[in-house]
Amino acid sequence: MSPVRPAFVAGNWKMNGALATNAALLEKLRAGLSVCKTMEVAVFPPFPYLDQAARLLSGATLALGAQDVSIHAAGAYTGEVAATMLVEFGCRHALVGHSERRSLHQETDALVAQKFGAAQAAGLIPVLCLGETLAERQVGETLTVVMRQLEAVLARYGVHSLANAVLAYEPVWAIGAGRTATPEAAQAVHLALRQQVALRDAAIAEKLRIVYGGSVKADNAAQLFAAPDIDGALVGGAALNADEFLAICRAVNP
Ligand code: PEP
Repeated sequence: MSPVRPAFVAGNWKMNGALATNAALLEKLRAGLSVCKTMEVAVFPPFPYLDQAARLLSGATLALGAQDVSIHAAGAYTGEVAATMLVEFGCRHALVGHSERRSLHQETDALVAQKFGAAQAAGLIPVLCLGETLAERQVGETLTVVMRQLEAVLARYGVHSLANAVLAYEPVWAIGAGRTATPEAAQAVHLALRQQVALRDAAIAEKLRIVYGGSVKADNAAQLFAAPDIDGALVGGAALNADEFLAICRAVNP
């Protein structure tokens, strides 16, 4: 964690939630997050609950994000949600390229880059997820994969697009798996990503938040956050438990 970059901790609820449990979770987060003043915290509920979350978070420091966004502005795209719609419902962020979208919905680097652009064009902050599979890691391709995923966005929108974006390094083998990258292994990837951006613009690289995701929990967050290029976390399973998520947020300033 560097003092130059305010930490960002995001809770990806995935396809979980119900009106009653969301209300209880958000109420606890609202009450508990008054202690986290020097960082940004956001929750990413499923689309149907964005309105509920926006109402319950009104006036709170907690931001709202969407788990996905369409590349299209409007029209005959059944099941898709446009970036402008997300803005109308109070979203500040949108995840793009989560590994579950890449693997279960065959999202390519090119499509993810278009989603990044669509989100940004509507005023959303894209959270661009990058990460290698276990097979790719085992053959030493971690950096090749994450750089390819990053380059798809840089080639299309340029380095300045990263001035208003967050990167989330999420090794696929660590997501929902109960095992996490060591702080050293994650730091090495975060540093390499930052150096890659710095080749184009050092100031943007210095300010760019690169958060880690993959089985972050209350008991491993502080060690991860101690690494100089880890600027927060994208949290899945642990984001559904208020006490656990709040403990992760508190680990930013132990
Ligand atoms: C995620 O969904 O982005 C994620 C990191 O999940 P988990 O924390 O459950 O591994």
